[in-house]
Amino acid sequence: MLNFFVLFTIGSVIGSFCQVVAVRGLRAATLTTTPSHCDYCGQRLRWFELIPICSYLWLLGKCRNCRHNVPLTTLLSEMAGGSLAMFYTQLTPNLPLLLIGFLLLIMSLCDWQALEVPSYLLIIAAGLVVIAVLTTSQLEIWQLIILILWSSYQRWPVFHRWLGAADIDIIVLYSLLAGPIITAQAILISSGLAIICFTFWAQRQLPFVPFLAVSYYWLLWCLL
Ligand SMILES: [Zn+2]
Repeated sequence: MLNFFVLFTIGSVIGSFCQVVAVRGLRAATLTTTPSHCDYCGQRLRWFELIPICSYLWLLGKCRNCRHNVPLTTLLSEMAGGSLAMFYTQLTPNLPLLLIGFLLLIMSLCDWQALEVPSYLLIIAAGLVVIAVLTTSQLEIWQLIILILWSSYQRWPVFHRWLGAADIDIIVLYSLLAGPIITAQAILISSGLAIICFTFWAQRQLPFVPFLAVSYYWLLWCLL
């Protein structure tokens, strides 16, 4: 139990960092030199405002200085990071799979905020998928073919416009990781969740990557 609590805490801190990465981009300088601050009034955050989940709930989701609402995605990414880390039981093969999970969290936040996912995140994810496959088994011929087809698909931006690039990329990576059946189940879960959310939230264009990322828990459940 204590183990799960420690893992959840570490994961929620990483989840909080994922939110910062998604907002500031992967610019190493701003990530390391700019202290945590309110995105609206610039007020530097004190230590008690930096405790994942607890600070959000304690301050009722508002900045202590300007009372501006802190985005709900802050709380959600801390909870997502915490629950992701609870899948960690051993160094290999869990670590690459968990890193993919945190990457999916960053991609979801980018897609939620800007309706696009930077391609370098997808390339890092593809690298991690190959590592994850190689740590448990060998890369099979069909996986190599999918990888080659996927790489060539990156060169045809016309497809991207029709299909929504990042969604297809993530589905391809899921199929490499978990095979067609579990991937089909993941797509079913994501689509179901997206339809439910769309009925409540029809006023805005909903990104699909966050829903795909939620279904990644199903992949982890099946793979670990
Ligand atoms: Zn503020």
